[in-house]
Amino acid sequence: MQNPFQKLVPKQIYNAFENAMKQLESVSKIKKFDKEFFARLREPDRDIRISIPVKMDNGSIKIFEGYRVEYNNALGPYKGGIRFHPNTEVNEVKALAFWMALKCAVVGIPMGGGKGGVTVDPKKLSKKELEKLSRGWVRRLSDILGPHKDVPAPDVNTTPEIMAWMADEYGKITGDKTGAVITGKPLDKGGSEGRGTATAQGGFYVFEALKKELKLPKVCTVVIQGFGNAGSNAADIWYNAGHKVIVVSDSKGGIYNKNGLDIPKLLEYKKSTGTLSGFSGSKDITNQKLLATECDLLIPAAFENEITNTNVNKVKTKVILELANGPVTPEADEILFKKNIPVIPDILANSGGVAVSYFEWEQNLKKEHWSEKKVFEKLKKLLDDSAKKVSTNAKKSKTSLRMGAFILALERIQKKIK
Ligand code: NAD
Repeated sequence: MQNPFQKLVPKQIYNAFENAMKQLESVSKIKKFDKEFFARLREPDRDIRISIPVKMDNGSIKIFEGYRVEYNNALGPYKGGIRFHPNTEVNEVKALAFWMALKCAVVGIPMGGGKGGVTVDPKKLSKKELEKLSRGWVRRLSDILGPHKDVPAPDVNTTPEIMAWMADEYGKITGDKTGAVITGKPLDKGGSEGRGTATAQGGFYVFEALKKELKLPKVCTVVIQGFGNAGSNAADIWYNAGHKVIVVSDSKGGIYNKNGLDIPKLLEYKKSTGTLSGFSGSKDITNQKLLATECDLLIPAAFENEITNTNVNKVKTKVILELANGPVTPEADEILFKKNIPVIPDILANSGGVAVSYFEWEQNLKKEHWSEKKVFEKLKKLLDDSAKKVSTNAKKSKTSLRMGAFILALERIQKKIK
């Protein structure tokens, strides 16, 4: 069926679900799974489109297109973030929901896969309009959401404050007082310690667990694409661990310093100026040059389809760690595997976010509040264990870490479906 939004979105974003299905196809060449099981995984359980009317500050009514895709709940309630972005459309959300189902299975948490979004540029909305949109998204979907049914969380451009509005709206409609319908809330509204930095912190634990076998040096040079929640926290964590972060970028462009950027100062600089460009001691760099920078570790932390068959041969890193979802296309993935450049896949590398979201959900339901130390100890244990299992699978089947992670996830989901 022709997608009505196809004309409106860039081709590379439109391909995300196709890419996810290609990955599923690749794993079937490495390990035998039931045909019926795979047929089921090629479609989400439910794929909902909504329209959200918002009364704008100038008095006009604007209708926004929103989505919730519930992909698979074999392991537990659907779980997955909500993205507010002008390019967001249903196929991107479907891909992200599919990856989320696998991600929960890779880290062994009792949650299924879901994802949501709204096609909107939130930077063009006032705070009041953004709140109305966020509450409107929940009003349209309140029947299918719930602590034991479907539990959303933040993703690109959605913040703890937005999560608090959404939880509040759900509570008003249903009377729910647990707050466990949504995770990534601010601390004083039932959020978990550590959730803000969990995605990057989780990526770091996975990196530490695999560093030796990937033959990475003690001090790595690091290039990071994207300077939002995932990317800026990663820069801070790798910097504080003694590594040299030489390039970072955001949607306006990147900066480079071969001796390493002073990340704490850069975070202050970006906060006060709103840009990375012009930071003392750095040179501006384009996104394409960023990907071609010689380094030990490249961390894509922005969007899908950044490393493709057209630029993959320029990549000069020893290892890629995917903090973004789907930044490497299946074609580029194959080339990187042949070139012996390991890719630590998104469904393992960025699973720290959903793992701490699960901890938040558990704390809300048990009416507990855990210390950051406890949260990160639990996270580290979960990710050390998953990283080792993924690596063992990859070695056993002589395949990539991505395929190792897919095998682990699919075996766990299949066992529950049977
Ligand atoms: P965010 O909105 O906080 O940040 C996105 C960043 O990417 C911004 O700095 C933006 O300027 C930058 N960006 C946009 N286009 C770019 C481009 N072309 N080149 C370089 N930078 C660009 O979003 P986030 O939460 O950090 O999410 C980033 C990625 O991480 C997404 O793929 C998301 O799905 C994934 N992720 C996030 C979480 C989480 O907990 N936030 C969890 C798992 C995965």
